[in-house]
Amino acid sequence: MATDLQITIRKIASLNPATGTILREFAGAGEDEVRAAAARARAAQPAWADLGLRKRLAVLREFQRRLHERKSEIADAITREAGKPRAEALVTEVLVVLDAARYLIDNAHRLLRDEPVPHGNLATKLKRGRLVREPYGVIAIISPWNYPFSIPATETLAALVAGNAVVLKPSEFTSLAALELRELLHAAGVPEDIFQIIVGDGATGAALVHSPIDKLVFTGSVATGKRIAAAAAQRLLPVVLELGGKDPMLVLDDANLDVASSAAVWGAFVNAGQACLSVERCYVHRSLYEKFVAACVEKTKKLRVGHGEDRDTDVGPLIHERQLQLVEAHVEDAKARGARVLTGGTRIPELGRNFYRPTVLADVTHQMRIMREETFGPVLPVMAFDTDDEAVRLANDSEYGLAASVWTGDAARGQRLARCIHAGTVMVNDVISCFGISEAPHGGFKASGIGRTHGRFGLEEMVRLKYLDVDFMLAIKKVWWYGYGERFARQMEGFLDFQFARGLGDRLRGALRAAGVIRRKQL
Ligand code: NAD
Repeated sequence: MATDLQITIRKIASLNPATGTILREFAGAGEDEVRAAAARARAAQPAWADLGLRKRLAVLREFQRRLHERKSEIADAITREAGKPRAEALVTEVLVVLDAARYLIDNAHRLLRDEPVPHGNLATKLKRGRLVREPYGVIAIISPWNYPFSIPATETLAALVAGNAVVLKPSEFTSLAALELRELLHAAGVPEDIFQIIVGDGATGAALVHSPIDKLVFTGSVATGKRIAAAAAQRLLPVVLELGGKDPMLVLDDANLDVASSAAVWGAFVNAGQACLSVERCYVHRSLYEKFVAACVEKTKKLRVGHGEDRDTDVGPLIHERQLQLVEAHVEDAKARGARVLTGGTRIPELGRNFYRPTVLADVTHQMRIMREETFGPVLPVMAFDTDDEAVRLANDSEYGLAASVWTGDAARGQRLARCIHAGTVMVNDVISCFGISEAPHGGFKASGIGRTHGRFGLEEMVRLKYLDVDFMLAIKKVWWYGYGERFARQMEGFLDFQFARGLGDRLRGALRAAGVIRRKQL
């Protein structure tokens, strides 16, 4: 059945972002193809669920073994297509997925099994309740290009382990990384219709949102997230939205300056600043400001910008020209409003396409785009503050709330501030690594999203919660059924007093008044 979607399907190409070399071209999947994939997934899913968790985990173990065996090849493929240094492809992509598999192998039995629900209310004490977790059916995943392997893979593994089928639409810029994931999963024993990939751009993604799926896990920009939420609302499709961030880093007056400045430089420039958890805003206590900024500049100047394949590269290219233009626009806006560029601030055409010098900005303010909008590029803007309260106020002065970090020599002080920051994750004395902690839930407050991926809460997103209630008193009518009247009302008042009155005497009198309810006549 066709929808009234007006979509134009375009050809897409995977490119090496550093050179522009075309790695492979694809025809984007059209609406019929997307619907057919969802239908195949739906037909195949019951058998995958019936297979049972033990056998699904055996498949996951085999996937983990194969990924470990092919780690170098997979890292190379990611680097070619996304431009990131190979070391980052190994650590932030392959390792994250190997560990996500480890977490599920160790914990899925405990997290997915039925859970008893003891009843406290005396009226229902004799019944038995349980929580049952059932797969949704078909989970659609739409993913971005910045972590083209680890983002779709971690979400896919949780969905599959829970017994769902998955249809993944990877970013149009990084289809090849997703195809590597498909090859690994199928070789490990996931049936072809249980994990499918449809390649294409936003139009294909829009078709997937309208196809017969049961839940959508989307990772990408706030703008697309809002469009998807609006489309999902039309059919009350449940969604997880992992959206953008403008993560603040707060460096308090007792922080270790050397460690914190290294963290700022890594946190701002890892993946060329194209991480949802990047340090996008840095606030430093005025007493440390000049020294901190100087340390950041010195360390930034030492970074080796180059092609990801080169083993010495620290910072690779941006993904495409549009991203470069956005970064330039933010830096130019900051300069025009009085920011100082201490290092960087220009393209590096001699290296190839899409290279931008890691940039440190001082004297920035919250009137500048660089402190308000997601930049998603290699820029570290640093601003001074005077008090902890001011630092928290600045951190919270944002529409985003993905993550934040607090740097201090006093862990208790750091935790106090962390509790005041409006973000899904706050790290004390670390940045970004929360994404690699498989136990930790990942997700945002405010415009940064809805729902969670990773860990226990990420797995919970992949199941419908069913409450199962069993009454073993087969021959007894419930006292609250028909047979109302003045007497029954008095008995019920007594019952309420028995359970909730504060004084012992009132409770006992209530029990006596309630006792007759058992013998009353009912329909
Ligand atoms: P994007 O929103 O442009 O695209 C994300 C995905 O959505 C792509 O696959 C794209 O083809 C698809 N898409 C585009 N329009 C669509 C539509 N109308 N309907 C359905 N699908 C559509 O984002 P991007 O540029 O690929 O990724 C960068 C963004 O992702 C940044 O904002 C970054 O912060 C965010 N991100 C968030 C997280 C997180 O976990 N919170 C992680 C990584 C990236």
